[in-house]
Amino acid sequence: MASKSNKWNVVKSVSKIANQDIISKIKNYNSPKSESLIYCYNTLDKVSRSFAVVIKQLSPELRDAVCVFYLSLRALDTIEDDLSTNFEQRMQWLNEFYLHVGNENFKLENVGDTPDYVELLSNYPKVAKAFNELNDKYKTIIKDIAKEMGLGMAHFAKNEVKTIDDYNMYCHYVAGLVGIGLSKLFAASGIESKELLEKLNIANSMGLFLQKTNITRDYAEDVEQGRFFWPQEIWKKFGNSNSAFLHKSDLNALGCLNTMVNDALKHFIDCIDYLNSLKETSIFRFCAIPQVMALGTLKLVYNNAMVFSENIKMEKSESAIMFANCNSIEEFNLLVKNIIDNWKTEASMPLYFETNQILNNISKKLVLNN
Ligand code: CA
Repeated sequence: MASKSNKWNVVKSVSKIANQDIISKIKNYNSPKSESLIYCYNTLDKVSRSFAVVIKQLSPELRDAVCVFYLSLRALDTIEDDLSTNFEQRMQWLNEFYLHVGNENFKLENVGDTPDYVELLSNYPKVAKAFNELNDKYKTIIKDIAKEMGLGMAHFAKNEVKTIDDYNMYCHYVAGLVGIGLSKLFAASGIESKELLEKLNIANSMGLFLQKTNITRDYAEDVEQGRFFWPQEIWKKFGNSNSAFLHKSDLNALGCLNTMVNDALKHFIDCIDYLNSLKETSIFRFCAIPQVMALGTLKLVYNNAMVFSENIKMEKSESAIMFANCNSIEEFNLLVKNIIDNWKTEASMPLYFETNQILNNISKKLVLNN
């Protein structure tokens, strides 16, 4: 058997070819059929460059449904995040947004905390028009998810995330439902099998893993903006308030951080199962690339006190390697193995024993997959 580094280099060169395939697919990407879809794809580039790339390499029919799904949920998230709007008004918008997903007269002015989000909501009629042009089977799925998500966001606008159960529930509403909705879109397109619908719990874990990684990484930024997502059940063990760790680097702060990382990392086993059940390459890439990037981010964040003072991000070169080398479950397993093999844990790090156990479980799972 080739040594680890040789195997790694082989995969890199093989995937260069596969990566050219994605790039040429995006280059040859036929411009969308309607004015409203052109607006949607242009907006997608502005509100999420990383998702825009993986969405555009999907097959045409599914790509349009996923693009509209993403933008309508982004609109909902923009309402949730703009804390400057009147509370009662915001609750009404969150609860009723699903009724307007296909309403070509629905728009909100001056809602959103960045210019691109404000523009999305003031041009919402174009997204609604693109929604109305979709096949009915996709419309029902998108509307149902928008309803559940809006109700969940309204609930958590009134209720703090206290227990770990609350935290799981909040992440289910804002991200797990995205994983569930996408699985339903994949199955409805006929590209992935209907069996995916029997695995909605692991589809939920896909969303939880991404969301918890972001919540853990974004501590400093969120606290500075008055947002608290780390559950009280966790931070109370290490500090007197949810903002107590800002600019700290002591063992309590790191203990709290590592507990958050471990809690997120536990979902990764489900993510491996989910990715194993996918059949089509562009859907696989769409799902796997964000997961492997999140795992890389968690490794970077682990036991790293910089989280308490700034927004840390993976090196661009590192994420480019992940993007280019994630075209099959075998390549994904190699990327994951590489991250885990380089994940440093030492006895001096709080919670390192639990982290090691979870990392070992992930490694065992990878071996079973090969
Ligand atoms: Ca949000």
